[in-house]
Amino acid sequence: MLDNNNWVTCYLGLGSNLANELGSPVEHLQQALASLEQHQAMRQLRVSSYYASAPMGPQDQPDFTNAVVELETTLTPLELLALCQQLEAQAQRERLRRWGERSLDVDILLYGQQQIDEPTLVVPHAGLHERNFMLVPLRELAPELMINDQPVSAYPLSADWSGLELIH
Ligand code: AMP
Repeated sequence: MLDNNNWVTCYLGLGSNLANELGSPVEHLQQALASLEQHQAMRQLRVSSYYASAPMGPQDQPDFTNAVVELETTLTPLELLALCQQLEAQAQRERLRRWGERSLDVDILLYGQQQIDEPTLVVPHAGLHERNFMLVPLRELAPELMINDQPVSAYPLSADWSGLELIH
């Protein structure tokens, strides 16, 4: 935990393309967001629109539902990663196959302006610059946001909607 007055602005990417007995993909995202809302070390949550995105990897799986949430936290990066994994477990995520279907994926896209390169955590997220389902909602939330010293709007994929559709 950081000092109590030390709030860091972070962006998390959420995705789901698998329903289970706990809910539909949209419900998995909503449940994860509700847990974040209630967490003592989180404040000022802002959620992007929900997007449908074509899957990466195996194409014989449903489209994903994706959203990005902006929040302020006093958790350290590794504490935040542990929380992301707890949210995935809460959605009964199972590892079926690489790039495959999942009830919930929660990734740390950005943690303040920090560059983190640890065995278990790379921030900015290693796939961020090549994934429009992360960049388009990020740009929606914070058009002036800087990623690796460049505004999000300077990333061509932040304006490229191929394979993406607005849900609501
Ligand atoms: P995934 O299959 O997408 O859930 O990735 C799982 C692994 O990615 C986890 O075990 C994390 O340790 C690692 N990882 C590295 N960087 C990140 C990040 N920025 N956000 C979330 N997981 C990450």
